[in-house]
Parts: sequence; structure tokens; C-alpha cells
Amino acid sequence: MAERIFGHIPNIIEGDVFENRIELSHNKVHRPTQAGISGSQKEGADSIVLSGGYEDDQDLGDIIIYTGHGGRDLNTKKQVTHQILSDKNLALAINCQNGLPVRVIRGANHKSIFSPEFGYRYDGLYNVVNYWKIKGKAGYDVWLFRLEKAETSIHKFEVKEDSPNYLKATRTTTTQQRIDRDYNLTIRIKEIYDFRCQVCNTKIFTNAGFYAEAAHIKPLGEPHNGPDTLDNLLCLCPNHHVMFDYGGFAIDEDFSLIDLDGKLNIKPEHEINREFVRYHREHFTI
Ligand SMILES: [Zn+2]
Repeated sequence: MAERIFGHIPNIIEGDVFENRIELSHNKVHRPTQAGISGSQKEGADSIVLSGGYEDDQDLGDIIIYTGHGGRDLNTKKQVTHQILSDKNLALAINCQNGLPVRVIRGANHKSIFSPEFGYRYDGLYNVVNYWKIKGKAGYDVWLFRLEKAETSIHKFEVKEDSPNYLKATRTTTTQQRIDRDYNLTIRIKEIYDFRCQVCNTKIFTNAGFYAEAAHIKPLGEPHNGPDTLDNLLCLCPNHHVMFDYGGFAIDEDFSLIDLDGKLNIKPEHEINREFVRYHREHFTI
């Protein structure tokens, strides 16, 4: 089975429309041809297709309340047992826990004003920001997932003044801001450390499994422009991630900790670039 890809698929852009589920699958945007959620409870969910709809679904465009999978009678579509946090539902919870985005595809038969006229449209990346269970209308537990658009489209309008009283729009262009973060690397760094914080060795347990954060040493984006590479990543608990990002501690040349006791735990397969550690020390500590 091919490797699961989190994030955008190369050469596929938001707004691309596919004729059917087969075409969607061939282009790797959503691989299963039947299932609505592509994912596993070990790795997380890489994509979902919105079609038809559960009664508790809400589609507000940039925010989607997505109903989990299972517990319905296949013929009547009515809820007949509890949904449980396992399988595809747990996959979405894993996304939330690990900061993994999910590709969202809307089908023409999805009951929403945001649905395409025909076929299936790739609508970009969403973050799973929360999940919880409710008692559904039939009295059974149903899991809900709050998805929020991970990136906003930037609309640029150019206007030309023809006369003092008349503004005419001459051209409209739309560009998308793509965050080229490699989510597969964030999985890798957590695997190397088995979800243990490199500072305090803590491993946090939640209802969706273990939790840790992938922290960039030299931050991504302007003006730092740190690279999204394994030698610029740390596996940290949330406390130490916040402390590190805001200069609560730093790391010395020999990887001993500054303003905290001890030394950074580093596995042999994880080579950290000292240049990035130096950059962090110089820019984030007072
Ligand atoms: Zn820690």
C-alpha cells in the first residue's frame, strides 16, 4: 500500500474538480473509492469526502462540524448503536492530537451551499481542532469533529481609476498561500522519540493515544525562514514547547540546557544542526 500523504498533493491545487471518485482516487486526493474517511487509527486521516450528510453535520465553509463514522443501519441510515472513538473516528482524533491537516473534498451531493455544481472539488487543508461526543437524536453517542480551514485564500483586487468619480475593477486575481510544511516529518520526529519530550522525558496519554509536539528550532516563515527538516525539529511536551518558543530555555553548543537543568535527550538517528540551536539561542533568550 502506498504511503499515506498528509497535506497537499503535488500539482493539485485547491478548487480542482474531479469527475468521480475513481478520478479522485487516481490523483491520490482521496484514495478509497467508497469510504468517506481515508485514514487509519495508527497514522491519522489524510482526507475526507463530504457527500450526502449526517443530520448533525454543519458546513459553514471555513468551519465544518463533521460527524464521525459508524453506528448506522446501512439500509435505513438511522443511528442504531453508539459511535465509538476507534477506527476512522480515532484517525481524525489523531489528526487533532498531532496537528495533522486533512484534505477536504466536497461532493456535488453534499447538502451544503458550499458544494460544487458537479463532481468532487478539492477544497484544501483543514485542521481538526476539537472533537467531542453528543447524544444523537436517536439517543446514541455520536462523535463530532470541528474542522477549521488551515490556510486562507488571499484575494487580490486591482482597481483602476478612470475618472474622479468612477472606479473600475480591471482585473481580479486569486492566489493561494500554501504552507509547505512537511507533516510527515512531524510524525517521524515523534516516532523517533516515542512521544517522549526531549527535555523532561514525559509521555502524555490521551483518549486518542500519545501526544507530543514537533517544535521547530529555527522557526519557519518570515523573517526567520528556518527549514522544515528533521535537523531543525525537536519532540517536546506542550509545556517545554511553549517555553522553548518564548525563550524560557535554550540549548548550548554541547546540547546542555540553558536556564533548565540537564541535557537534551538526542537519539543517534536524529542529527540536530547546531546552527539552528545557535540561532534560537541568539534570537529568543533575553
Ligand atoms: Zn517536557
